[in-house]
Amino acid sequence: MKLGIVGLPNVGKSTLFNAITNAGAQSANYPFCTIEPNVGMVAVPDKRLEKLRDMYEPNKFTPATIEFVDIAGLVRGASKGEGLGNKFLSNIREVDAVVHVVRCFEDGDIVHVEGSIDPQRDIETIDLELILSDLEVLDRRLDKTRKLLKADKKYQGELDFFERVRAALESGQSARSVECDEEEAELLSSVSLLTNKPIIFAANLSEEDFKSGVEGNRFFRAVQEAAEREHAAVLPICAQTEAEISELAPEEKELFLADMGLTESGLDRLITACYSLLGLISFLTAGKDECRAWTIKKGTRAPQAAGRIHTDFERGFIRAEVIGFDELMECGTMAAAKDKGLLRSEGKEYVMRDGDIVLFRFNV
Ligand code: GDP
Repeated sequence: MKLGIVGLPNVGKSTLFNAITNAGAQSANYPFCTIEPNVGMVAVPDKRLEKLRDMYEPNKFTPATIEFVDIAGLVRGASKGEGLGNKFLSNIREVDAVVHVVRCFEDGDIVHVEGSIDPQRDIETIDLELILSDLEVLDRRLDKTRKLLKADKKYQGELDFFERVRAALESGQSARSVECDEEEAELLSSVSLLTNKPIIFAANLSEEDFKSGVEGNRFFRAVQEAAEREHAAVLPICAQTEAEISELAPEEKELFLADMGLTESGLDRLITACYSLLGLISFLTAGKDECRAWTIKKGTRAPQAAGRIHTDFERGFIRAEVIGFDELMECGTMAAAKDKGLLRSEGKEYVMRDGDIVLFRFNV
């Protein structure tokens, strides 16, 4: 899973990205690796997995990971090639979801490219670039559909649908906000439009505003309104504070957060929010050798989940031995859970749940 951090210049993208990299570098539990200067892999914090590690003391501890890409350089005119615009747009095309950092902090020393703090305008500026790029892509698809229609009438529905999407884009709406049935949604995702990607607005607030809460904050409210219009999620953060937190040792970090009345850092919240935005859950495997979290889409059935570990597991799937995390904790050990008959044997149709601890049985 890959997330792209976008936003206008000087809104706090790099600060957030550095906070993410730092947090990983500081944490022995959740190591981080930098793949390229602007690409980093970060572990998904998971208290359940930590508990399993305490229980099994495994040789290997492997949390689920997500990749963050700092996509700097989006400016007004990017879709027309301003400031290497097209390169940045193609970077966005490669990610699964977008984190759009919106500046909500005032600071006279830090220039705003548009001269003032105005979240709504900033969001529209970025949206416009993405929409213009989408229009180009969609027009190519429309041409193709029109040609197909000449040979076969069945393409009329597709053409009508894409024209409806085009009209929405023309009027400044994102593709995400177009009402679709299941078939149309599939059609839409076959075009790979930037404005159809899941998005979280990260409202980057000043430390004071963040501390005093977002209620009544007009900048945050503006981001929230945009998010509602766009079918997007929204999360308040303070990138600067995150950067500070990320430099602390784990014990200090907890104290610092407690001091702010928080139990988890903004980064942890961001990662969790991205996970749910993308409809992802984790199942866990646990043993002396390794305790590990695996990412799957909500609704995944047992054989496909097994396939995440190895294609052979999916092909030769027999059954899954499953126990919920809480059940295991109540029993204390896997052996006690087995004695109580809590370890369930599930077949091909079983839909995996978040936090399931699984052992797959398969034929080779
Ligand atoms: P980018 O261009 O979007 O990557 O922005 P940067 O992360 O480089 O941030 C631009 C400037 O704003 C830097 O000097 C940051 O220290 C500062 N900055 C980022 N977040 C905050 C914040 O929450 N409050 C304040 N006051 N400054 C911030």
